[in-house]
Amino acid sequence: MDPYIDNDLKDVEKAVSEFCEKEFDQEYLQRLEDEHRYPREFYEKIGELGFIGVGFSEDIGGSGYGALGHVVAVKEMCRRLPGMGMALSLGYIPGFVVDMYGTGEQREKYIRPMIEGRYISAISVTEPDSGSDVKSMKTKMEDKKDYFTINGSKVFTTNAGYADFYTLLVKDEDGLTAMIFDRELIDGNGSGCFEINDLGRKMGINTTTSGELVFTDFHIPKDRVIGQRGKGMKTVLDGFELGRIVIAAQAFGSMLYGYEKASDYAKKRKQFGRSIIKFQSIEHDLVDMYVEIEKCRNLLYKAAWFFDRKDPESKKYSSMVKLALPESAIKILNRCIDILGGYGYMRDQGLEGALRDIRITSIYEGTGNIQKNAIAKLLY
Ligand SMILES: Cc1cc2nc3c(=O)[nH]c(=O)nc-3n(C[C@H](O)[C@H](O)[C@H](O)COP(=O)(O)OP(=O)(O)OC[C@H]3O[C@@H](n4cnc5c(N)ncnc54)[C@H](O)[C@@H]3O)c2cc1C
Repeated sequence: MDPYIDNDLKDVEKAVSEFCEKEFDQEYLQRLEDEHRYPREFYEKIGELGFIGVGFSEDIGGSGYGALGHVVAVKEMCRRLPGMGMALSLGYIPGFVVDMYGTGEQREKYIRPMIEGRYISAISVTEPDSGSDVKSMKTKMEDKKDYFTINGSKVFTTNAGYADFYTLLVKDEDGLTAMIFDRELIDGNGSGCFEINDLGRKMGINTTTSGELVFTDFHIPKDRVIGQRGKGMKTVLDGFELGRIVIAAQAFGSMLYGYEKASDYAKKRKQFGRSIIKFQSIEHDLVDMYVEIEKCRNLLYKAAWFFDRKDPESKKYSSMVKLALPESAIKILNRCIDILGGYGYMRDQGLEGALRDIRITSIYEGTGNIQKNAIAKLLY
């Protein structure tokens, strides 16, 4: 019995799990990674099946299960194949800011097609000289009466190049402002110059791009502001509050993937005339993992529960899970590789890829240190 998940959400969990078990294919994922290609066809499929929409509200085409719904869907996708679950969820996690702060019109234009699997989202906050210190960003917006002009550059934008819409954080004398730019503007209806450069291959999540965006006198219409002008920092951080919980769900699903694989293997693999699980050191490692997983499950579901109730504890828990679960997932996957011995190191076993993929969860949407700073600020 899970105290946080009711029977309806259990059914959703089962549906996501069955689909991923049947359809996700490791060889196919590795081919996409080699070709550095996003699994768009799977993204469209999970949109059609309603899996993207599990956590979004019903007024925009979702199922209304909130953060807990997102957590369950993302956890199950990553549990079946971490690289695939991460890539697919990264298609819509960047859209949370528009969903939370967008006008009715903006949400209809961008969020509804995203939930249906037709639109991929991106968010561009980080700049070459401004990472954790978001406020030091330099990308400038100028008010030109009928439109804004944007000058500057962003780095590390996930999905850059194939995203259908981007949340962009820019600066002027009023402070930071979040705005949307989309494929219509990129594909030539906008004025000024806009360039996207793929930053190439990275340690993991290689089906996704990480791009540099360069804006030179790029025009963005005035109706693309998200939330209030000058309040962009809060707008984006509120989106991150949910994003961090869902990123922790990526880490959680991936630790389940590793644990299940390693415990199955340990039962089957024989050395010195017996299953290696009969060696107490292996058995104890698996028990340690099991206990760690249950601690993480409780923290994660509690964070989602607080978020859905707009509880004042939510901010702290969102940072706590973003701090703790990536660390646990990295530790568990690393140990799982040892349990598989030399086989664990081989690509076709999937564990080395899972470890490389999950490594980023302790960095994006705020490093571990930044989560500690946020928690400390709320505690002391
Ligand atoms: C694969 C990938 C995908 C990404 N996707 C996106 C995306 O879609 N959109 C986007 O905008 N960005 C994205 N990022 C950027 C990511 O969010 C940043 O890399 C991250 O926030 C850290 O910023 P930085 O790299 O500039 O590191 P820095 O901020 O330079 O930090 C370097 C080190 O200093 C530490 N540090 C910095 N400040 C403090 C402090 N005050 N106290 C203690 N320690 C501190 C950090 O913890 C870190 O260990 C992505 C990055 C990667 C690698």
